[in-house]
Amino acid sequence: QQADDYALMDACAKFFASQLRQHPDKQRVIDYLKGRGLSGQIVKDFEIGYAPDAWDTVMKQFGRHKDAQSQLLALKMITENDNGRRYDFFRDRIMFPIRDRRGRVVGFGGRVLDKGEPKYLNSPETRIFHKGRELYGFWQMKQAEQKIDSAVLVEGYMDVVALAQHGVTNAVASLGTAATTEHLQLLFRHTPLVICCFDGDRAGRDAAWRALENALPLLKDGIDMRFLFLPDGEDPDSLVQREGKQGFEEQLKQARPLTDYFFEHLLDTLDITTDAGKSRLVGTAKPLIGQVASDFYRDLLMNRLAQLLGRDPAQLDQLVPAPEKAKV
Ligand code: ATP
Ligand code: MN
Ligand code: MN
Ligand code: MN
Repeated sequence: QQADDYALMDACAKFFASQLRQHPDKQRVIDYLKGRGLSGQIVKDFEIGYAPDAWDTVMKQFGRHKDAQSQLLALKMITENDNGRRYDFFRDRIMFPIRDRRGRVVGFGGRVLDKGEPKYLNSPETRIFHKGRELYGFWQMKQAEQKIDSAVLVEGYMDVVALAQHGVTNAVASLGTAATTEHLQLLFRHTPLVICCFDGDRAGRDAAWRALENALPLLKDGIDMRFLFLPDGEDPDSLVQREGKQGFEEQLKQARPLTDYFFEHLLDTLDITTDAGKSRLVGTAKPLIGQVASDFYRDLLMNRLAQLLGRDPAQLDQLVPAPEKAKV
């Protein structure tokens, strides 16, 4: 069953890619991809394709038999409406196959060509696709890099692809959700440094903070996480297209250490010139710091917290005894 699922998803990816070469509407799609600065080579490398503007392309191609239709349904390549009518899930979209860590196609991201909602549509969860586990570009990164000194975590498919085209082959993206602990665990198993490079907009900032929260339990000695926010309206795709690999890597050097970003974020919404603000800072920061695995990082964060409040760290420990410690 499972082996079959992967074979069918792979066939779908190949089929969407073939539509880019064969479909009567292909020129419109190719023009769009060219307009986004993508080369033919990178389109091939990432097996980017096209799901035609029709209700039954996948249905006709793969769903002739009843069993095959059930499988397409289970893999969410087709859906069924209330009347029992079955139709293609992805229509008139640029298709990005999502591969798991072993290189098997497990799902797709689909982007509209022009305007249209939603801009991106992802495969829903299936028996072989779990968003919280998969990272777009992870497999390609593993293929390209012998030793991964650092990984760049970005928001979007286009960011990963554009970066790869410009020679930045260590970028991965989570799939329309913030990076989970599982995502970060996977990354930290392959590299000691993860640099989050997110859009400067609200969505990007929220995603970064959630990534930080999810990373805290993983913060061991020797690993590091940094954060870079791009100016509003900019993302890694637009940046690398304009400034090239070197320019992008220059920017990456500006990424702030986790310990800096941690307090910058908390102080963004708190006024610690007031007692209420001070106590809220302690109340928010301490439980987060308590999750950190490494003594070194925990110490570092506690010292900073104390510094911010103009107290010494020992005093702060007494001020709010950590529940975890109280139990021991
Ligand atoms: P593009 O450059 O193609 O316009 P983007 O990747 O810069 O797209 P953003 O709006 O910055 O798009 O969103 C970042 C990522 O969040 C997307 O790549 C996609 O994975 C996810 N995303 C955005 N909009 C949606 C949506 N409506 N539904 C699901 N996921 C989305
Ligand atoms: Mn954005
Ligand atoms: Mn973009
Ligand atoms: Mn973006």
